[in-house]
Amino acid sequence: MGSLEGAVAVITGAGRGLGRSIAEELARGGAKVVINYANSKGPAEELVKKLGEDQAVALQADVSDVGQATQLIEQTIEHFGRIDILVNNAGITIDKTMKKLTAEDWDKVVQTNLNSSYYTVKAALPHFTEQSSGKIINISSFVGQAGNFGQTNYAAAKAGMIGFTKSAAQELARYNVCVNAICPGFMETDMFSDVPEEVREKIKAKIPLGRIGSPEEIARAVRYLVVDGDYITGQTMNINGGIYMQ
Ligand code: NAP
Repeated sequence: MGSLEGAVAVITGAGRGLGRSIAEELARGGAKVVINYANSKGPAEELVKKLGEDQAVALQADVSDVGQATQLIEQTIEHFGRIDILVNNAGITIDKTMKKLTAEDWDKVVQTNLNSSYYTVKAALPHFTEQSSGKIINISSFVGQAGNFGQTNYAAAKAGMIGFTKSAAQELARYNVCVNAICPGFMETDMFSDVPEEVREKIKAKIPLGRIGSPEEIARAVRYLVVDGDYITGQTMNINGGIYMQ
């Protein structure tokens, strides 16, 4: 892609956390950004204000719902006229051992983390194929590679995203669309701040680089894949402080 200037990016779950940092980083490079949110209306609108209405728009959509995810892409086209970059970042956890996990807990996590990615990609596909270019980045997790106690639902969904990424990359390469996954380790966001202090310390002790990652470290990797990643597809980029080494 070479430059972000004029490119249109959709980032799901961008009102806060990693998604917000990714949106800010892509906007800083000159991209127009769609800040998708499910519940974080205030923060999403505040980010639009900060970036300016020419460059950003906040669109509400629960991407775990196929109709709303499809509408998000349609509204992007209506608003900015095209889509060049799709970052599937929206995610949730419902952590329980399988003994306590319900089918509903399972479905909700798989629906939000994995199925949503298929819904948005499917909706964006005709636009990417018609313009013969596109960058799709799926935010998975090292948990999808390593597994984790109490996270069977989340690990399955995140592992699913990696398989989806590789298969989509094979199907879409002929259209010059690159599809990659990023697997973050423990990153400093609301998702991690829920973890009790003593557990945080134990986790830190297990990370070779000895610290939790910052959202900007993921955002810069997304920018790299988009701007300099024209020959990178079907890959999984691990940004995890060394907690999982393949
Ligand atoms: P977070 O701070 O908990 O934020 C989650 C984001 O997902 C929020 O913006 C939320 O939007 C959005 N979201 C959740 N359900 C949604 C839905 N149905 N529709 C649209 N948006 C939805 O989490 P995070 O740490 O930024 O995580 C971002 C991604 O990175 C997730 O996929 C997560 O699994 C992955 N990840 C995170 C870590 C970590 O340590 N933080 C590690 C590995 C992977 P609203 O606030 O608007 O509801």
